[in-house]
Amino acid sequence: IIQLYGPLNWLGTYYRMIQQAFIDMENMFDLLDEEQEVLDIPDAKEIMIKHGEIEFNDVSFYYEPAKPILRGISFKVHAGQTFALVGHSGAGKSTIIRLLFRFYDIHGGNIKIDGQDISLVKQESLRHFIGVVPQDTVLFNSNIMYNVRYGRVDAADNEVISAAEAADIHRRILGFPKGYDTVVGERGLKLSGGEKQRVAIARTLLKAPTIVLLDEATSALDTRTERNIQTSLAKVCENRTTLIVAHRLSTIIHAHQILVLDEGEVIERGTHEELLEKGEHYASMWNEQLTKHEEVAGTESIVEEG
Ligand code: ADP
Ligand code: MG
Repeated sequence: IIQLYGPLNWLGTYYRMIQQAFIDMENMFDLLDEEQEVLDIPDAKEIMIKHGEIEFNDVSFYYEPAKPILRGISFKVHAGQTFALVGHSGAGKSTIIRLLFRFYDIHGGNIKIDGQDISLVKQESLRHFIGVVPQDTVLFNSNIMYNVRYGRVDAADNEVISAAEAADIHRRILGFPKGYDTVVGERGLKLSGGEKQRVAIARTLLKAPTIVLLDEATSALDTRTERNIQTSLAKVCENRTTLIVAHRLSTIIHAHQILVLDEGEVIERGTHEELLEKGEHYASMWNEQLTKHEEVAGTESIVEEG
């Protein structure tokens, strides 16, 4: 009997180990499930976007259930208008952009474009109407022609070049060793932050979407580059519904509406003038940036926080 106990004990331990391994594996599948891309509902229709009116109704969202990121966010962007999101790092600004592009499904409320709930339509059709100028533009290890054309893969060479001209990067490209044939990206010519943003602007101009989502780069751009880029950005937003995450408040003085977010909640909304008049959160952010600008005025550089 004693002799039997040993192996049984050992077997028991072994069994528990296997059991634990299965549980771990199940957990792993749960995790994989969570990371899974959002799925279209079975008979999802194509979205029909004519005007580009955006509505967030009481939207709640988290990446992990224990940590709510957006709590009851509501706002409306009228067709063709510019709407700005501001707030400290981690407030949830970029998350709002990702949700509108439907990188994730939400956990409460709804998001509508021209009255259609974006969770009920084909993702592909939704993304067809939306152009994104992200915080950090990813370049492919391919030539610059390919990289700009990515905005609309069937665009002709001359269309790609026009877009690059409008984004004010054409002359820069001509200065590259092989012009438009120059390989860029990790294994090619490295472009600066400002140049990459121009590539993103050119792509978006080529795509000519109804809605533009603009996540302003947080990386340092010198003030001259920044001033020049404003002109290109204005072009990409012209006659389009634009949602812009702004770090430099000077970018959004003319926005039709500004939403101030803090820890996933709206704490203020209004125009630049209205919010300055109010003299609270936005006004203090504005004053903070004015001081910063004065400090760096001599050095021609601005360093922003995420
Ligand atoms: P903002 O753009 O205003 O700086 P974000 O929307 O990027 O803020 O992030 C809001 C919050 O969500 C932050 O606390 C951030 O850490 C968290 N977060 C962002 N992306 C993820 C992710 N993929 N997984 C988990 N948490 C995330
Ligand atoms: Mg962000």
